[in-house]
Amino acid sequence: MVLWSVHNSPMSSPSNKSPSAAQQALQRMGLLRPIDMALHIPLRYEDETQLQTIESSQDGQTVQWQVRVLESVVTARPRRQLRVRVADGTGECWLRFFHFFPSHQKTLSVDSVVRVRGELRRGLLGNEMVHPAIKPAHGDLPRSLTPVYPTTAGLPQAYLRKAIVNALRQADLCETLPPLSLQRLPIEGRWTLQQALHFLHHPDPGVSIATLEDRSHPAWQRLKAEEWLAQQLSQQMARRQRDALRAPALQPTDNEHGLLQALKEQLPFALTGAQQRVVNEIANDLRRSVPMHRLLQGDVGAGKTVVAALAACICIDAGWQCALMAPTEILAQQHFAKLTQWLEPLLQKRNKRVVWLTGSQRKSQREASRQMIASGEAALVVGTQALIQQDTRFARLGLAIVDEQHRFGVAQRLALRASLGEQAEKDGMPHLLMMTATPIPRTLAMTVMADLDVSTLDELPPGRTPIVTKVIESGKRDEIVRRIRIQLEAGRQVYWVCPLVEESETLDLRNATLTHAQLCEALGEPVCSDVLHADHPPRVALLHARLPAAEKQAVMHAFAAGEIQLLVSTTVIEVGVDVPNATLMVIEHAERFGLSQLHQLRGRVGRGAQASACVLLYEPPLGPVARERLAAMARTHDGFELARIDLKLRGAGEFLGARQSGSSWLRFADPQTDEHLLDWARNEALWMLDHAWPQALLHMERWIGGKSEYFKA
Ligand code: ADP
Ligand code: MG
Repeated sequence: MVLWSVHNSPMSSPSNKSPSAAQQALQRMGLLRPIDMALHIPLRYEDETQLQTIESSQDGQTVQWQVRVLESVVTARPRRQLRVRVADGTGECWLRFFHFFPSHQKTLSVDSVVRVRGELRRGLLGNEMVHPAIKPAHGDLPRSLTPVYPTTAGLPQAYLRKAIVNALRQADLCETLPPLSLQRLPIEGRWTLQQALHFLHHPDPGVSIATLEDRSHPAWQRLKAEEWLAQQLSQQMARRQRDALRAPALQPTDNEHGLLQALKEQLPFALTGAQQRVVNEIANDLRRSVPMHRLLQGDVGAGKTVVAALAACICIDAGWQCALMAPTEILAQQHFAKLTQWLEPLLQKRNKRVVWLTGSQRKSQREASRQMIASGEAALVVGTQALIQQDTRFARLGLAIVDEQHRFGVAQRLALRASLGEQAEKDGMPHLLMMTATPIPRTLAMTVMADLDVSTLDELPPGRTPIVTKVIESGKRDEIVRRIRIQLEAGRQVYWVCPLVEESETLDLRNATLTHAQLCEALGEPVCSDVLHADHPPRVALLHARLPAAEKQAVMHAFAAGEIQLLVSTTVIEVGVDVPNATLMVIEHAERFGLSQLHQLRGRVGRGAQASACVLLYEPPLGPVARERLAAMARTHDGFELARIDLKLRGAGEFLGARQSGSSWLRFADPQTDEHLLDWARNEALWMLDHAWPQALLHMERWIGGKSEYFKA
């Protein structure tokens, strides 16, 4: 790669390059304001502050020399190239260029003195350097390390460097930390933001590169402290804003007239201690006239649905409506079935209903649902995103529950918030309960979700037999088919999960359709691809996201009823599906799934009293991370433990990004290494909101700017 080009080559100066292309590239990278550029920190640095001699340079080393051109020829064979012989008084070297402009030849004409930077190869035929970067020798050597920035197509490094130098001059880097906060900063030396940024862009040559790379240098710490502070400020502010809102105080009816009691009495099981505790935590929130904002974390199978149902009972008892939203139609359908079974008989006595609302409903049905929601006849509404669409008006929404919250995108979460906000104008803000089966380790949760209260179901219902997990090479499919046959003959049910629906040219994935056909053949079953119109459901069926909703539902019903015994499926079954008779889960290409996804999938079995197994089929060779993931799956069933391992394997940024916690804007900070900075930021944020409000606003504007909505999602 040419690091810097000849000074007058077309690449070298912003003014020669079509400004719009580079400008567009800057925009694509989000480098809009001077402050954005000032915060675009180098990936790494190059030391151009020193000159070496040819004699002292080592084979393979990247070196910089000042040399005189002795000879310059263009040869046609074996490839057209420019060959230039140079010397510095201690030795000679051939430079070779396969791409060159007339300007190169001019700069490298005989007797010119130039600075050359590149990787030296010492071979049998002498010294050689291929495509070194060339600069004319006049001018001083740079006094600081040269930054190398993350960039993109159409944005030359040289252009970016100049743009950033300008931006550093223009950007308003005034200090937003009050002097007291600055004093309390647990960082060596007194760095202002301005000093820190200047240093990170143009460090002194004497600096330890390692401290820049591992981000432990005080200048890095200063930057991270800024980011943490912004994050904590916005979370604390969100919390204060919410605390200032009014919500309906939902007082639980703890007597035989209430739904709560009635449901508890008719449940076929006793609540676990954890479920009782969590229901109490929720009840205490609902009682208050400040909106609840609570995340319920509980491993797959921990029994979150019944907690949601009990919360709904409290809300309905108090005379308000409850909405339960799930990310997929299948999951919503299941919740609807279960909640109807539990609550409909109890509600009927009170002239109330459980109502179903999704986008795939026929228009007339959806309208009917909406009417009941608007009139208040619907005490509990279960559905998908359709619940938060504009033409859904609740008579009196008191509680919104979002299941598998991590599966909703940012846009949907913002829509939910907007819709709750609209509701708020009438009756106060509804309470909000979010549920997730992909836990975030506790310390991380406290840092990145400071505006949430977290409840944890840390106990599984009793009587579960542990799932045996086997990691098996995909070549041994025959053995798996034999196992499947044994399960089917015993009347049990099996999931087979494949990663993609259709053949992809780029990814060598067995597609679900083909796998379905192969499994039918291996088990001697006919291939049925239209369950909806078949005379009777097949024993082996296929489920994927592209099936029409009615067909999906028919497949899931038949599987839940035990008619379909082997369900070949893409990851649409990942969340929430509950079929206790399913005892074997086979996951194909397990190496391509993330840890939390594997854990979710595995959670589909082991839901009854029968012993269950999960087979993770992989395609060798396994990379080191995939190997660790699969080993972790075989080793433990604890979702929290797996989350900790996931966090370790992926780092916090990716870990959170995958969970769409809305905090992926944390660019520099790392909760795993920055505990001391985070403690500082948490305290300072609270202090600043009380004592330095203008600086707090300024600080958030600089760091979060237009992203604050996104952040709240
Ligand atoms: P998840 O937390 O993954 O959403 P579910 O709510 O689907 O879990 O519950 C999993 C299964 O456990 C369901 O069949 C549910 O009826 C059952 N269950 C829930 N709580 C208990 C309990 N306290 N005792 C026994 N079974 C329970
Ligand atoms: Mg669930």
